[in-house]
Amino acid sequence: MRAFNFSAGPAALPVEVLQRAASEMLDWRGSGMSVMEMSHRGREFQSIHEEALADLRELLAVPANYKILFMQGGGQGQNAFIPLNLLGTSLATPRRADYVVTGVWSQKSQQEAQRYCQPHIAATTEHRGFTSLPAFSEWQLSDDPAYVHVCGNETINGVEFFDLPHVDAPLVVDASSHLLSRPMDVSKCGVLYACAQKNFGIAGLTLVIVREDLLERALPICPSAFNWKTVAQNNSLYNTPPTYAIYLAGLVFKWLKQQGGLSVMEARNREKAQLLYDTIDKSDFYVNHVEIAVRSRMNVPFHLIDKTRTEDFLVGARAQNLLQLKGHSSVGGMRASLYNAVPLDAVQALVEYMREFERGSC
Ligand code: PMP
Repeated sequence: MRAFNFSAGPAALPVEVLQRAASEMLDWRGSGMSVMEMSHRGREFQSIHEEALADLRELLAVPANYKILFMQGGGQGQNAFIPLNLLGTSLATPRRADYVVTGVWSQKSQQEAQRYCQPHIAATTEHRGFTSLPAFSEWQLSDDPAYVHVCGNETINGVEFFDLPHVDAPLVVDASSHLLSRPMDVSKCGVLYACAQKNFGIAGLTLVIVREDLLERALPICPSAFNWKTVAQNNSLYNTPPTYAIYLAGLVFKWLKQQGGLSVMEARNREKAQLLYDTIDKSDFYVNHVEIAVRSRMNVPFHLIDKTRTEDFLVGARAQNLLQLKGHSSVGGMRASLYNAVPLDAVQALVEYMREFERGSC
């Protein structure tokens, strides 16, 4: 029996996608091979790859002057590959790059960049415990930075940018935990990147969507396999790509199209998040510390007012088949991740359990 799975990632996948992958596991559409056994240069995988690219471009309305790259190394790999690809000058005279620090993940991005440049913190909410977002008017950008980095959704802290500003420098957006959860204006970004294992697939695949004119700015020391231009020129086949992960992401893209696309997903994601936040806000038993306007629709961290009951809550949840609700170790408490593949039913079961646990505790 499948449980309700609230993992922050690797996370729940649509059951239809898993069924399809299972049915094609031994023999992909009469080819006599599993996708895992195919050459990445053969015509079978080529068709899988091209279809995934086309479906993603359509779903997200990616403009023609952006390349879509399927890479490896995860979100954290890109934290290094971004400066390596965008600083565009020698290490002896590093350019400045700006970072907006709004939680654990953007902080990690900024820290990794210190290896390659002097990242300037244009805005931070650390002093507010990462429970809000800095207004665009508060961002203090440096003169002519190579890029401005933001994390669109902080998976651990539960804050989400629902809009992005227009800035002169290329905006680099870590979209690891919200990409494809709603429509986005790609043209506002110079680069969008995301690991796949949350909203559209499995670990091993990292997506980079980059505006073509930014492919000329790599540092000479940028490794070839992680140089976006090299990857783009080779249609993501410079080295062997994570073929099975691309196939699986392709199945998720098809599933998203069948559901009606990203506006439909946005409406569902709003409804799920609203139900959970309402339940938290209406009780004196649970609390979420994030400013209401910027609460993430994807990751909802919450605490019991009486923190000594946290373990009891989690044990009881597991017994009800509500899995992977433990909060990140840096913040404790609980976290429910409500990615696309988590159905409304799961959130209904969760809030029912929360009310029951509250009643049983009073
Ligand atoms: N950025 C964000 C927003 C994330 O949530 C994560 C993973 N939790 C990462 C980056 C890192 O991804 P990976 O583990 O694939 O390196």
